[in-house]
Amino acid sequence: MPRIPLVDLAASYARHRDTIDAAVRAVVEDTRFIQGREVGEFESAFAAFCGTRHAVGVSSGTAAIHLSLAALGVGPGDEVAVPAHTFVATAEPVTWLGARPRFVEVDAGTGGMDPDALKSVIDRVRVVMPVHLYGLPVDLSALGALATAAGVPLVEDAAQAHGAEFVHDDGSVVRAGAYGRIGCFSFYPGKNLGAFGDAGAVTTSDPALADKIRRLADHGRATKYEHLVVGYAARLDTLQAAVLAVKLTTLRASNQRRRELAAAYRSRLDGVGDLVLPVEPANRRGVHHLFVLRTAHRDALLAHLQEAGIGAGVHYPIPLHLQPAYASLGYRPGDLPVTEAWARECLSLPLYPELTDEQLETVVAQVRTYFERV
Ligand SMILES: *Cc1c(COP(=O)(O)O)cnc(C)c1O
Repeated sequence: MPRIPLVDLAASYARHRDTIDAAVRAVVEDTRFIQGREVGEFESAFAAFCGTRHAVGVSSGTAAIHLSLAALGVGPGDEVAVPAHTFVATAEPVTWLGARPRFVEVDAGTGGMDPDALKSVIDRVRVVMPVHLYGLPVDLSALGALATAAGVPLVEDAAQAHGAEFVHDDGSVVRAGAYGRIGCFSFYPGKNLGAFGDAGAVTTSDPALADKIRRLADHGRATKYEHLVVGYAARLDTLQAAVLAVKLTTLRASNQRRRELAAAYRSRLDGVGDLVLPVEPANRRGVHHLFVLRTAHRDALLAHLQEAGIGAGVHYPIPLHLQPAYASLGYRPGDLPVTEAWARECLSLPLYPELTDEQLETVVAQVRTYFERV
């Protein structure tokens, strides 16, 4: 166990222990483990938080993406634009549906889907699915304009971005998951809003899509015994909903603390070695799911930090277009050079709401020590 882990789920539980224990006990005693009252209550609260008319609880972030693409009719012969620099779950459901992921180059500064790169493939894709990577919204107005002009839906992979905000030119603010036709969220335990197991949600303001996704997640049911379509078993558990409802009440404050810690890292690490620190464009407010910097010394710095008991990580070392699982798509090293540079140089430092100022100083000191020696 590193002295300072990358994420600290025990600290998170300690902060919420009494309310979570009570909420879990209520579900256990009530025994409505499937579609209990807490599911609908959490869905309403999460939709209100995101600023959408609907939220549908599902079994994971991956399921959220799968059900969303299925509801939009993605199937064999289709292509879906996804960034190459992301977690594999952004692309897997595309493949499950018989469609082909079209891996799009990312922006050198932010790591999000590059609108210029999308432009060159927009005419061939059925859906555009950017990722608000590390909690920073992508350039929604540029990507959204391209999708709108091409007449294809934009689906946001907001698995890392609960509460992140994008500011329009007129000053109005939209939260992650509320801009596109659909937003897909993960409540994997280490995410900004984390369950005690797998869980996820789909957000949308389109009532027909919400109904369709809800039905697909529950065996295609119209009623208890009538199945309109062949669906899936991908509901949100009542127990997870109960935990999530408790943690949602402190999400805003947790995100604020993450922003403070990120600002502290930025000021304390500015100018150290060859570090490139994460940027935040003026029209976006990220929620720092991860604090990811870049350095040509990535592997050596990672080893140094781990040696010092600091749980640094890499998100993600192998870009999707070069994953063995996607070898059949025929991509080669060098095809997406900006993505490949991210994969080579990115390093994630510990960042979670319970990280103390002292712990942050310890991390900073170890990063500085590394660069003093090279
Ligand atoms: C976590 C994550 C997912 C998948 O979510 P699960 O809940 O683990 O299935 C999808 N996309 C991104 C970008 C993620 O970080």
